[in-house]
Amino acid sequence: MEKKIRIPEKIVILDKTYTIKFVDNLQHKTDSYGDIWYQEQEIRLQSEGGDVNRHRQATESCFFHEFVHGILHSISEAGLRENEDFVTRFSSVLYQSLRESKMLVTE
Ligand SMILES: [Zn+2]
Repeated sequence: MEKKIRIPEKIVILDKTYTIKFVDNLQHKTDSYGDIWYQEQEIRLQSEGGDVNRHRQATESCFFHEFVHGILHSISEAGLRENEDFVTRFSSVLYQSLRESKMLVTE
């Protein structure tokens, strides 16, 4: 079975600490698998259970996507932060490189 990377409960981005929450109904409510709330300092990810069948790697990739949004928010790169194509491509490469070089904690 494929190893999962450890998605932390909290992640620090400069002076902010975001809490990562898994929720069951995100996809139904927002038609997305993750989002980030800058004021609340919260990243929400669609959980893999229930009626939403989701591959673990999609969840991990989604976490990196929201993480990159958070980084760009913290460094005041509003243009890049709102550029979903940039965020998706950049976070995908970051995730792939770290994963394939075994720099991520797996469980
Ligand atoms: Zn996004």
